[in-house]
Amino acid sequence: MSEKQLPGFIMCVCTGKCPGFKAMDIWDFINQVRVELPVEYGFIHPQLCEEDGDRFFLKAHRKVIIGACAPNMQRKMFKQAFKDAGLDIEKDAVMLDIRDMTNEQAFRVVEQALEKLDEEEES
Ligand code: SF4
Repeated sequence: MSEKQLPGFIMCVCTGKCPGFKAMDIWDFINQVRVELPVEYGFIHPQLCEEDGDRFFLKAHRKVIIGACAPNMQRKMFKQAFKDAGLDIEKDAVMLDIRDMTNEQAFRVVEQALEKLDEEEES
């Protein structure tokens, strides 16, 4: 029986200057996500909508949960990169807006997204 593939989690902090992440301790947050939630990995990227973000998606080979800006913005910015990687952004990405949240709020949003993914995979 093959083992279930866990999704990766990427947080994008908009170069670290965006006021949208001021209410959060991003290091505590990413550590809590990667240690306590069922993800393959968790890391912080400074600016996912730049070219190195696109290059990362080319190597992702798995579902990714992206905690960053508004999902409709993410969809526009990442659609082509997912396509180039042979992935479908609607199926292979879970795009979450975690701006203006505390650690607890953002953690809960990611946790709920993982629970929803799990339910979808089981149905
Ligand atoms: S992906 Fe969104 S949060 Fe990240 S740098 Fe681009 S605009 Fe900012």
